[in-house]
Amino acid sequence: MNGRRPLLVGMRTRLLASHIGVIIIAIVVLFVTVRATAPNFFDSHIGNMAMMGGPEGTMMTAEAGQLDDALARSVNEGFLLAAAVALPLGVVVSLLAARQLAGPVRSLAAASRGIAAGDYVQRVPVEGPPELEELARSFNLMAVALEGAERRRIELIGDVAHELRTPVTVLQGYVEALADGVFPASAETWSKLAAETSRLGRLAEELQDLSRAQAGQLAVSISAVSAGGAIRSAAGRLEPAFAEKGLRLDVLAPPGLPNVLADSERLVQVLSSLLSNALRYTPAPGAVSIAARRVGAAIEISVHDTGIGISAEHLPHIFERFYRVDRSRARSSGGTGVGLTIASALVTAMGGALRAESPGAGDGSTFTIVLPVAS
Ligand code: ADP
Repeated sequence: MNGRRPLLVGMRTRLLASHIGVIIIAIVVLFVTVRATAPNFFDSHIGNMAMMGGPEGTMMTAEAGQLDDALARSVNEGFLLAAAVALPLGVVVSLLAARQLAGPVRSLAAASRGIAAGDYVQRVPVEGPPELEELARSFNLMAVALEGAERRRIELIGDVAHELRTPVTVLQGYVEALADGVFPASAETWSKLAAETSRLGRLAEELQDLSRAQAGQLAVSISAVSAGGAIRSAAGRLEPAFAEKGLRLDVLAPPGLPNVLADSERLVQVLSSLLSNALRYTPAPGAVSIAARRVGAAIEISVHDTGIGISAEHLPHIFERFYRVDRSRARSSGGTGVGLTIASALVTAMGGALRAESPGAGDGSTFTIVLPVAS
């Protein structure tokens, strides 16, 4: 309540003062002008009449004095009447205008206070003069954006907690079993512990990249990069894992391919991420290929696999943060659901685009990066 009265009183008083001020100034100016010009005008007319009147002229001059007084009186009365009508009218108009402005302004103030207190569902009615309607629409847009940001923040905390829980629980289980002597301190146990620890480390790195990507702060340093070199470097990193799983990996980079504009390290990171996914989601026996080709002023680098594919229902969502088609399968195979979000943000930061295609579940997938050719 405290914030309400001063708003209305302040607006009402100001409008009232300005309306009354304008009325008084108008009346005073009119009054002064009429009083200054009318008697001269009147006198000169009477003078003309007296001159034309001949012997009756003396009588007319005497009457002219009385007429002068009558004119002054009627001007004064006329202006008093005008003031008596205009001032109350001005007050009524001010009050109506204040009410029309104060309503929407008051709703905006109340909704802003609600948002400041964390109540992001606040919206204001679009009403009042056009400028206030515009302000209300902008306010509502801002409220929708803030509500979305808050929802994503809460979801992110939930997702991160969820992702952390699995490796931590596994580690806890192993450590307790080791302490109780249930598991022997064998090489196999240590390697399981190491796998979970590295999973936690990977998650921490991915979360850092994700937060930078979402804040639009992924640092990339663009230069002319050899697409063939980046492809061979990423494929080289993952070749042992492909061989271990029994998958074929074909690298197709035609000679003479022009350089692309990219961040060389980040490009290798994105290609490695796409190859890791292809490896993860392709059961043996299967094949994965990474190929580059020139299309106009761009180079397309495609990672194609013969794996589990992605159904049309899931395809539009796979670049969303923590989105996984099959949550249980992804967890058991180590995916966190942020790889593609980061890859896409990185490619966009490099001035390119990343797209995904799949004929459907069971029919393999193709991920394509499009980057501009370095001139
Ligand atoms: P994850 O760490 O779970 O792999 P990503 O963001 O890299 O997270 O991928 C998101 C989801 O997209 C995956 O969980 C998976 O369901 C699907 N996906 C990604 N790459 C492929 C692929 N090559 N084949 C089939 N599904 C894929």
